[in-house]
Amino acid sequence: MSSPVLASDSALQARQERGQRAVFCGLTSIVWLHRKIQDAFFLVVGSRTCAHLLQSAAGVMIFAEPRFATAILQDKDLAGLADCNEELDRVVGQLVERRPDIKTVFLVGSCPSEVIKLDLGNAAQRLQRNHGGKVSFVDFTGSGIETTFTQGEDSCLQRLVADLPGDDRVEQLLVVGTLADIVEDQFKRLFDALGIPAVRFFPGRRAEELPPIGAGTRVLLAQPWLGDTSRALAERGARLLPAPYPLGAEGTLAWLRAAADAFGVNAARFDEVTSAPYQRAVKALAIHRERLAGQTVSLLPDSQMEIPLARFLAEECGMQLGEVGTPFLEQALMAQELARLPAGTELTEGQDLEPQLARLRAARPDLTVCGLGIANPLEAEGLRTKWSIELVFTPIQGFDQAADLAGLFTRPLAREQRLGGFQWS
Ligand code: SF4
Repeated sequence: MSSPVLASDSALQARQERGQRAVFCGLTSIVWLHRKIQDAFFLVVGSRTCAHLLQSAAGVMIFAEPRFATAILQDKDLAGLADCNEELDRVVGQLVERRPDIKTVFLVGSCPSEVIKLDLGNAAQRLQRNHGGKVSFVDFTGSGIETTFTQGEDSCLQRLVADLPGDDRVEQLLVVGTLADIVEDQFKRLFDALGIPAVRFFPGRRAEELPPIGAGTRVLLAQPWLGDTSRALAERGARLLPAPYPLGAEGTLAWLRAAADAFGVNAARFDEVTSAPYQRAVKALAIHRERLAGQTVSLLPDSQMEIPLARFLAEECGMQLGEVGTPFLEQALMAQELARLPAGTELTEGQDLEPQLARLRAARPDLTVCGLGIANPLEAEGLRTKWSIELVFTPIQGFDQAADLAGLFTRPLAREQRLGGFQWS
């Protein structure tokens, strides 16, 4: 079902669709969250399907003890909630005994109906008491009933915000959203060079290290899927800095500028710090721009990165945008990106898969960014695709990654040209 409406705060039209969707569930977020938070364990309370999803998405670590698992509630357990709680206590007891390195256990809810009936919040409090407060227990949901897989991180961080200590006196920049360590280190160096006094990243590398939060906190979002988290932070007194996302040379420059302006960094200092890495990024992007300019790209709703990616591909790579779909259109989080999209960009919020695929087949863009599940059928129809999940798993933010990000889009097109007998030099 689809109805064209005006996206209220934007000059761009957004079609709203509700219908069949093809997306992964929020459990997928555990893949990047467990890599980031190194003293945490993610225990999914779910079914065998959840265990399979997690294992195939995250892979099996051979040399290290994994920091995620699924407490599978067998059919016999589903007969009674008391059994489920007992099973959960037993699994957690084993885990805490075997893994003294784990300081925080995330209990991750899933969508089987009996799991939904389990009160994981209560279970977390009970377990915290049972284990003498030596390990923290935090519950959140990764259920497939939510709309898209990146909501798992939003749900996790929103829940963590409740545990942050309050302090209105701390003047700090809080960068929110999981970033690869290498990217975090690059940004930290830039913020230090700008002279921004206190910079913290949330989530950090250790779940125990919770940043204080209050009226002196300015929040800079590093990921575009954190609507609930940013509202929870605002309720604790923090202020959200309006900015685009740090994708590409221009996106990163504007993102850093938002922080610099909020902390009164003067223009000369800002230029001095950013000009060399910005110029390097522009130069590295140029070769990709040559290859991408004029090519058409459509983005199907999957990760919630679609609007920032569309901005990057149009503004910095010269691509022509076809339909740009997003699972949600959060105006407050997207205003700066929407303002940079070309006039007339065709936006869709939500998904009704079949009509959307029909429009895609009619348009036949040179490249389609979409979920894993529909990429192969589209490839079989001769459409070139890029998996949106790859863009979430790969470090793509910041000046130093701008060319790598563009390279993710040149590769499928280069492959097609090679198959067609043409080789780029
Ligand atoms: S949470 Fe739901 S959608 Fe996700 S793997 Fe488990 S059963 Fe499937």
